[in-house]
Amino acid sequence: MYLGSHVNFGSEQLLGSTKQAISYGANAFMFYTGAPQNTARKSLDDSLTLEALKMMKENNISLENVICHAPYIINLANKKDLSKWEFSINFLRNEINRCEQMQVKYIVVHPGSAVGMSKEEGLSNISEALNLIIKDDDKCMILLETMAGKGNECGSSLEEIKAILDKVNTNNIGVCLDTCHLNDAGYDMTDFNGFLNEFNKIIGINKIKCLHLNDSKNEIGAHKDRHDNIGFGNLGFENIMNIIYNSKLENIPIILETPYVGDYDEDKNRLYPPYKFEIEMLKAKKFNENLKEDIRKYYK
Ligand code: FE
Ligand code: FE
Ligand code: ZN
Repeated sequence: MYLGSHVNFGSEQLLGSTKQAISYGANAFMFYTGAPQNTARKSLDDSLTLEALKMMKENNISLENVICHAPYIINLANKKDLSKWEFSINFLRNEINRCEQMQVKYIVVHPGSAVGMSKEEGLSNISEALNLIIKDDDKCMILLETMAGKGNECGSSLEEIKAILDKVNTNNIGVCLDTCHLNDAGYDMTDFNGFLNEFNKIIGINKIKCLHLNDSKNEIGAHKDRHDNIGFGNLGFENIMNIIYNSKLENIPIILETPYVGDYDEDKNRLYPPYKFEIEMLKAKKFNENLKEDIRKYYK
């Protein structure tokens, strides 16, 4: 199983991400090449990348399981403000170039938000943008993430993802599932096999290249998008086990984006990453109801 989490990029860039992933016992990871909320980007240091690639090799982390995530503020759906749409296109193209410079093979993108327009219009703007961005011989592939359907979010149903893909002129594109988003969008994660069958019928299962593994603070169909720690939300540990040990997803990197655990006893401002402990728990296949206490104890 290829299991890891979201990690920081920071001043050591990909090397920092790799070190952090290893500290969590991960053999996969996902990073943002800068702050996820903005588009300020430092230039890449190739010597740090080389060191990172070496460290990955030594620690059995394959580049197949290293994922980049584009910043949230990219919106390929909204063409009303043409300069913003073009900015999103140029920025995402540049992110792909940065990934290629680091030999990273996948970049996850939120399809976009159809503000002040119909869903159809938004979806077709996304396809149009993707056609301007993707080249057939790109070595880094865009993965469209399945969304929770918050507000005007596009890509919260398999039909919407399919509508985008249908108008894209290349096969050089894939899909990233997010279990919290799927639940919040109305898909029953207690029947993951049923979901995969439906995915296969509508899109084709070979399009799935990454899985974001998150429990959800909300009930099925809530359209909220609030991630929860593994086993503490509405999906529950048993369902999550069935998802990650599903034989159809055997070689797909699994990335945790669960919330940091707060320390409310002494210092309200301390937040600790849950990933080392969630990875251990998932590998042990046994729910740890003291997970959050264990995390606080470990990082204190
Ligand atoms: Fe995402
Ligand atoms: Fe996600
Ligand atoms: Zn989310």
